[in-house]
Amino acid sequence: QKISPFLEPGLQTKASSLAILQLSRDNLLPVYLQATAGEHDGYAEGVVVNTRYGSFPHSTMIGVPWGSQIRASKVDTGSRGRKRKRPTDDDPDAAATPQTANETEAPAESGTQAEDAGNATAGVKQAVAASSGFIHILPPTPEIWTMSLPHRTQVVYTPDYSYILHRIRARPGSVVIEAGAGSGSFSHAAVRAVYNGYPSSTTTTGKRKGKVFSYEYHEQRFHKMQKEIVEHGLEGLVHLTHRDVYNDGFLVDGGRSPGADAIFLDLPAPWEALPKLSRRKPESIPGDEEWVSPLNFKKSVYICTFSPCIEQVTRTVSALRRLGWVDIDMVEIANRKLHTVRDRVGLHLPVDRGVNNTPKDVDEAITRLAEIEDRFREHARLAKGAADEDVTDLAPPPGGQNSSKKAMNDVNGKEGYHSWVDGRLVTRGEPEIKTHTSYLVFAILPREWTEEDEAAALARYPVGS
Ligand code: SAM
Repeated sequence: QKISPFLEPGLQTKASSLAILQLSRDNLLPVYLQATAGEHDGYAEGVVVNTRYGSFPHSTMIGVPWGSQIRASKVDTGSRGRKRKRPTDDDPDAAATPQTANETEAPAESGTQAEDAGNATAGVKQAVAASSGFIHILPPTPEIWTMSLPHRTQVVYTPDYSYILHRIRARPGSVVIEAGAGSGSFSHAAVRAVYNGYPSSTTTTGKRKGKVFSYEYHEQRFHKMQKEIVEHGLEGLVHLTHRDVYNDGFLVDGGRSPGADAIFLDLPAPWEALPKLSRRKPESIPGDEEWVSPLNFKKSVYICTFSPCIEQVTRTVSALRRLGWVDIDMVEIANRKLHTVRDRVGLHLPVDRGVNNTPKDVDEAITRLAEIEDRFREHARLAKGAADEDVTDLAPPPGGQNSSKKAMNDVNGKEGYHSWVDGRLVTRGEPEIKTHTSYLVFAILPREWTEEDEAAALARYPVGS
């Protein structure tokens, strides 16, 4: 029974499963690991991923703990020179598609592995010889998949989808409707949110299986997404339908209701799809045939629509109001990255810290830190009520607070380590928000309360009981 590596990755990498190779901080390469005995495609090591950091036979990446650092092969497979497949009109995603066979040149990127790993502050430019490089092997998660997936459309990114899933109350056992599927970024996050331990082919008795019903009308995108669902072990958990939802709605398998508790619409005109997401047949839909609602009748239903323009928001809100949705509001996620570093004042000072960072300033700063630390120490000592107890963490530099230079020497000599010598934690934000993604409109369709519901409630909890 196949369990998705997105949902239950286990502790180690496995053959025939998806893994994400982290070549450098932001350069991620999805790979299906293949066990091959002996030579494969001209490579003595079997299937090999060739990157600018060296060659990595799949055999060295199977059966290792997730997060492992993998060293490049000593064998120079990269020089055997096959070219990376270029995107074409027929296959625009060629360059980004997860590699099932021999990956050749790694995508061009700026900087070196050392720089990308965050040593830029130290100004270190360290060339990494191809054969001495390394990568890390990571389990697939929705967040990593969003960063590495083959883009077929604009996608929803992590800051937006984490907030959306929270607001639409997607949780284990929820049934989510999503349209359009696009590149599957949201679908992966949604299925993890609703997964309640029932893998694809398990039948659930009594308990609802968390599930995502996804819809896509672009045929090529539909087929690519369907293939991914199978490859990622998500069959039965993500139910993808090739459909124009504006005209044909959300029922599945010839008229069955998904029974959705939550809805996410990433469509150009959400208001066109909204009438099909009603509990009762709306007046705007002609015809006398019996109405089957795609929604859960026993719960309030939560919706989010994702639209880049305010005009789309206005039309969506108007349609929501007409169709009985309440608690309508709009949110824009203004995501700002925060970069947290230790602001080192004593040791290993980068040379370009500016005019104020003369050795004299540094010495004064260290002395001040030592004084502050002394006060903390005194405070901790009093709080503990043990006047003679040694508060090791906050001990002053050996020789007293005025011997900060001596403390630095001690640290250099690996003795008498003091955390304050490492420097304060300093957080810097990006100066401005760079991107507008979309406006998120949220609303709730309250559950309906019928005479039968009231009778059942009274039978269970009689008045006056
Ligand atoms: N949310 C997706 C993700 O995170 O990867 C991206 C969705 S993409 C922006 C919008 C998708 O909606 C496109 O793939 C488009 O083909 C699809 N679409 C547009 N109108 C549709 C319709 N009437 N029915 C179904 N899908 C539709």
